[in-house]
Amino acid sequence: MSAATTGARRSPDADADVVVVGAGPAGSTVATYLARAGLDVLVLEKATFPREKVCGDGVTPRGVKQLVDLGVDTREEAGWRHQRGLRVIGGGTSIQLDWPELATFPAYGLVRPRRDFDQMLADHARAAGARVEEGVSVSGAAVDERTGRVTGVDARRGPEREPVSYRASLVVACDGVGARTALSLGIGKRDDRPLGVAVRRYYTSPRHDDDYLETHLGLHDGPGVGPDLHGGYGWVFGMGDGTANVGLGVLATRKNDKRDYRALLRHWVEGLPAEWGLREENATGAIGGAALPMGMSRTPLYRDGLVLVGDAGGMVNPFSGEGIAYALQSAAIAAECVVQASARPEGTGRERALAAYPAAVRHELGSWYRVGNRAASALGRPRFMHHALRLGMPRRRLMEAALRLFTGLTDGRDGDAGDRALDLVLRMVPPLGDAPPGSPSTRKEGSVAA
Ligand SMILES: Cc1cc2nc3c(=O)[nH]c(=O)nc-3n(C[C@H](O)[C@H](O)[C@H](O)COP(=O)(O)OP(=O)(O)OC[C@H]3O[C@@H](n4cnc5c(N)ncnc54)[C@H](O)[C@@H]3O)c2cc1C
Repeated sequence: MSAATTGARRSPDADADVVVVGAGPAGSTVATYLARAGLDVLVLEKATFPREKVCGDGVTPRGVKQLVDLGVDTREEAGWRHQRGLRVIGGGTSIQLDWPELATFPAYGLVRPRRDFDQMLADHARAAGARVEEGVSVSGAAVDERTGRVTGVDARRGPEREPVSYRASLVVACDGVGARTALSLGIGKRDDRPLGVAVRRYYTSPRHDDDYLETHLGLHDGPGVGPDLHGGYGWVFGMGDGTANVGLGVLATRKNDKRDYRALLRHWVEGLPAEWGLREENATGAIGGAALPMGMSRTPLYRDGLVLVGDAGGMVNPFSGEGIAYALQSAAIAAECVVQASARPEGTGRERALAAYPAAVRHELGSWYRVGNRAASALGRPRFMHHALRLGMPRRRLMEAALRLFTGLTDGRDGDAGDRALDLVLRMVPPLGDAPPGSPSTRKEGSVAA
């Protein structure tokens, strides 16, 4: 499909039909779909591959489904480690929950270091026909002062940081939690939606070949761990290569949170069994950390030629802090809308196709984000967590339902009785809005949302 056959009118001085900022999971995915639809896509990535990305490296079945849709080979032979489910440790007990058998999602999760995962996805985008330029750091969106529309991006390229501009009538911002492109248009993070912080470190460990993703809840109650760990959970994910990815995710519940997250991770890890080997001398690198923008926390997701996808749109799961699945899903939704928009001349019809993106995200995830944002504020309360663990942990059925809710795994109307009940509840919750806080439509929403 060329611009000529789609009816789109690309300006002669444009460098691409679409510029994508960032080649993380969101950027490479949107670029793959757009290139496959015949669009000329230019991805600008500030790093050069292979590069580290601070992450827990775990992908739940919701993310696996997205990878399968994208045509990624997720077999173990292709370099992935498969995971059977989740082990939850908390309230003095432990429970092992297998990923459910569902029609929509596979019954396995994945683990793969992001250093390798992200490069693989960027190569996937290249193979589909996208141009991926590494070592290009975007400083902001370029805007037509007369119309207010985005006309491309300004950037710095290469080791000399040479200033350079790229022109395109559509820019898809996939630049992660820093969201530089959105910020350049004044689209900031919403204070009315939750924010997490996570830190992680790799250790050489006999726990490296665990088949379950292990999470530790209610840490503030644990021996030797202080109340500063309220609203947090720990994880030990076996990487299958002799190392384990060990980390801590914490809800930033207080304003001006001064907690030292790296010190908290060291402190928690020291209290874990010595035979796991999670000790300073076995660490294979430094502690890395970053913020987790949750529950659709940067809106509007589309404005004046700029589309926000993945962490740049604050798409992280507010129940769990995982973001890969939602980066992949929002990228797939955005790609569909951009392809439709690109087949129309600039003007009302094109804008309507682009406005369908926030509407589709709200439709797919809005109600669930609303419940998650509310749950996040409860999970951040030590007393609530204490009672929830005591009540929930001994009840397998309850924990299985919680697993489905927390990881967004439901077949909806086609599922089993529990599934249908969950679907019904979510349908009764109005989806979160995209309008900025304080606007008439969100004032109403604010009374029920997080
Ligand atoms: C410690 C930690 C543990 C986590 N664990 C998990 C987990 O186990 N599972 C899970 O699903 N999620 C996890 N997450 C969240 C997950 O990492 C993110 O949600 C996910 O990476 C989002 O993907 P993305 O493509 O939107 O953004 P990113 O992965 O952040 O990719 C953004 C890309 O844009 C590039 N970029 C940024 N700025 C610019 C610029 N100005 N110009 C050009 N390029 C730019 C970056 O270099 C990067 O390549 C974790 C996060 C943290 C911090």
